[in-house]
This record gives sequence, C-alpha cells and structure tokens, in this order.
Amino acid sequence: MPCLLHGMATPSNHTQTADETIHGRGLRMTDQRRAVYDVIMGERDHPTAVEVFTRVRGKVPTISLATVYNCLDTLTGCGLVKTVAHEREPARYCPNLEEHAHFFCESCGAVTDLPLRSRKKPEDVWYFPGEFSVSHHEVSFSGTCPKCSAKAAKSNKR
Ligand SMILES: [Zn+2]
Ligand SMILES: [Zn+2]
Repeated sequence: MPCLLHGMATPSNHTQTADETIHGRGLRMTDQRRAVYDVIMGERDHPTAVEVFTRVRGKVPTISLATVYNCLDTLTGCGLVKTVAHEREPARYCPNLEEHAHFFCESCGAVTDLPLRSRKKPEDVWYFPGEFSVSHHEVSFSGTCPKCSAKAAKSNKR
C-alpha cells in the first residue's frame, strides 16, 4: 500500500523520510546534502566519494570534493547511508538499510547487494569460540558477477 503521508511506496521498515532523519539530528537537509543523497539513491551501484563527486558536479557544478566528503559524513552519521569497506579500496556508499551482504566482483569491480533469505542470529550461522558480544557484523563475498560469468562462458565456447 502506498504511504499517504509521504506520497510514495513504503519500504517495509520505512518510518521517517531522509529530511526527518536529518532534522532529528538537529541538522538541515541543505541543497548540497540533498544532491549527494539523491546521487547515492539514484544509481545504487555503491559509488566511491570521488564517483559521487563526479555525479553531483553534473547537477551542482560549484560543489567541491571536500564538501562532498562532509555531506557523506553527515549522511552516514545520521544512518541514511552506510559505508562499505573492501580490502584497501576507498570506501563506497550504500543507501540500502535492509540487512544485506555484498558481493565484490573480482573481474569488473561491481558491488552487488545480496538480500537475506531468512533472518538468523550471527551465532546461528557462525561459530564463536568463547564469549563474544557482537555489536555489528558485515558479510561479503568475492568472485565473479553474473555479467562476467556470462562473458567468461561465451569466450570458453569459442
Ligand atoms: Zn549495499
Ligand atoms: Zn563482474
């Protein structure tokens, strides 16, 4: 059912808009923050800060990379966007707030969201040797994405 309050389709865990979340922190949704947020929401391909900068500049030509970093800090601080770390690569940004894992393609570098099939406690999936208390967990996979797998299969046939 569409959410009448916000006039948009409601994700399962939707409680407040991005504006309300930012206001809740005593901050304003400035035009620059909105532009950065819109870019991350637009193409959900986990861009790096520099990629976000390149895309935002198309709409806000005067914005600087430092401002983009500041906006990203605010958005992640408010919990609207999550950072994704992979090995020594620069951080990427993900607006998907549902619990999910990431798949890193070793061939083209694409980062894909993997939704959960069923919700399980980490200790039901992983073995913790002792009294560990989990405050945060992040699961990632590496390998070949469907596009690259298809390409490899094609070239193998030749
Ligand atoms: Zn993600
Ligand atoms: Zn790939």
